[in-house]
Amino acid sequence: MKTKLLLAGIFSFFNYLIYAQEQCGTESNENSVYQRTTSNFYSSKQLEGVAFCVNVFFHVIRNGSGQTSIPNYYPETMLDKLNEDYNQYNISFNSLGFDYIDKTSFSGDGEGVYNGNVAELFAINNHSNAIDVYITEKADWLGKANGILSTELVVVKDYATTGVLSHEMGHCLNLYHTHETKFGLELPDESNCKTTGDLICDTPADPNLFYFRDNLINCSFTSGSITVNGVIYYPDTKNLMSYTNPECMQHFSNGQVERMKEAMYNSPVLQAVLTCCSIKTITISQASAVCYSSAQTFYLDNLCYNTQTSWSVSNNLQILDQDDFSITVKALNASVSGEGTINATFNNTSQQITQTVHVGVPSNYIEIGRIESQFVDIFYQRWTRLFIQYVTEPAGWEWQVDYCYVKPSNTREILIYPRVVGPISVKIRRNNECGNGPWLIKNFEVIQQGSYKILKQ
Ligand SMILES: [Zn+2]
Repeated sequence: MKTKLLLAGIFSFFNYLIYAQEQCGTESNENSVYQRTTSNFYSSKQLEGVAFCVNVFFHVIRNGSGQTSIPNYYPETMLDKLNEDYNQYNISFNSLGFDYIDKTSFSGDGEGVYNGNVAELFAINNHSNAIDVYITEKADWLGKANGILSTELVVVKDYATTGVLSHEMGHCLNLYHTHETKFGLELPDESNCKTTGDLICDTPADPNLFYFRDNLINCSFTSGSITVNGVIYYPDTKNLMSYTNPECMQHFSNGQVERMKEAMYNSPVLQAVLTCCSIKTITISQASAVCYSSAQTFYLDNLCYNTQTSWSVSNNLQILDQDDFSITVKALNASVSGEGTINATFNNTSQQITQTVHVGVPSNYIEIGRIESQFVDIFYQRWTRLFIQYVTEPAGWEWQVDYCYVKPSNTREILIYPRVVGPISVKIRRNNECGNGPWLIKNFEVIQQGSYKILKQ
């Protein structure tokens, strides 16, 4: 019993040492122009809704006799794990299959995978059209990618279906650790976030969570922060690219997704492993109106990264800019008002987009609306309800009524209190971000209250 406890103690101590140095074996190389720039050809917004699908190929390492403790369903489970962690960002994974590598030295019966033989491993059955994912029983790290922006990774069996897998994949897709120091120490105030740390500004400065894991409760610090050498940090304790507990690795930041998508879009190495496997319907962003005074950009969602898009618009719109993922338009001139359409067709799907938009200031109420009063007659010094009929918009209206107190409101209905007898003019119009629409006008006659009684008798 005593021996057992002692052994357990030694095991966890060694465990700690191993993990302390070798959570992740990926080296912080700086291999291309894609390292430092985050905007090469397309902005993050344009690529945000674009669907990227990455081919993967799995390699299960066994000993020389073809034996392994790695379950045969692992390639499928690992594919599911990747999709579970990445699908929310419109990045998905497509398996091209798996094979076995029967070599004792890479297996648990040998020395496993370490820095001295990992290059040899990554060369075995390597695919140029897929990211090669090697699974071993034993390694010097939980996982290792073949560099920042690369197409090979290895992960140990015990962590192969955890966030560690998605973490190593993140390295392949050009992400650094959130605690990276190769480019300099990122300050907690983020003032140097573009050029230091992981080069991404929406991931908070991270002092390396490995050393603070024991303080994590439900994957968070109870106070939200930790202090290192008198400096207060607010690291993301659930970020997939941090050294948080593997069970806490849950998400990427928007900036990380942007960086991955830009690398995939622009890097020939990654382009070679991409495919198109999105089955989601292509959609386009919405806008309440398209004005003449300012440009409006519409973004497509869920289309494949390699889609070619053809745009057309109705003749009350003009195209200012267009590419495969977005279109920027404005109204043809200051006087157009009404419905417009934006159409998109694509080279690799029969889907089409027809987006109806309002162009210019509002005007449809001029044709369909009618100003009405609550009573047949409007009486002097009596509150009367006025409203616009045959229009549905409950708010966004502006009224103008002569010689009356008006209960101010932007709704379809108002109360007026005439202070004169005789003709009054009632006007209503609508406005939107493009400006004011034309007035709809109706004249009423204000009469003395007695007049009504006389008429009735
Ligand atoms: Zn790593």
